[in-house]
Amino acid sequence: MKKWIVLSVATFALSFVATLAIRLGPELMRPKQVDPAFRIPSPLDLASIPTATHFDFPLGNENGAMAYNAQHFTENKHLGDDLNGIGGENSDLGDPIYAIADGRVLLARDGGAGWGNIVILLHAYLENGERKYVQSYYGHVQDMLVHPGETVKRGQQIATVGTANGRYFAHLHFEMRDFITPFIGPGYRQDTRGWLDPTKFIEAHR
Ligand SMILES: [Zn+2]
Repeated sequence: MKKWIVLSVATFALSFVATLAIRLGPELMRPKQVDPAFRIPSPLDLASIPTATHFDFPLGNENGAMAYNAQHFTENKHLGDDLNGIGGENSDLGDPIYAIADGRVLLARDGGAGWGNIVILLHAYLENGERKYVQSYYGHVQDMLVHPGETVKRGQQIATVGTANGRYFAHLHFEMRDFITPFIGPGYRQDTRGWLDPTKFIEAHR
């Protein structure tokens, strides 16, 4: 009789622990460190981003003069514009790249072999009285002159034009996105949801 009680208590305890493990397992096993690429800036961070009043072009002068677009948004499934100095080839190597608007540095780091260094800024702006966010993305840069978390001003030099470590003729791969996570991305894709036509956006927000 005593043995039977001990056995049933043990069985109950075991199934209780097993149920708990099954229920809580996924939560306990969830990685504590979320890759920064998927981390949403906290609401406080978002609120502290200065409101951009207007947007300029990132290369040449603020009107985009002295630079041309060698591969437009959606051309060959391109997710951005490839901006070049008008001298062609590597004549723009080391040229200054400017923040297109006031904002916050989301990311500034090596993006891997196809990318070289990348800088991503997050901008807040008002549209029809609503506070919105837009991202500007500067790829293949040579020198990064800003750090994540830093606030930048429109026209501030943030980087120099590079070649992705000799992979391409010097140019700026420039994207604009309407999401806020610092996702490095593929550069080319058929589905452009989340990506904006950079030239159109800037021209509409000068
Ligand atoms: Zn490109």
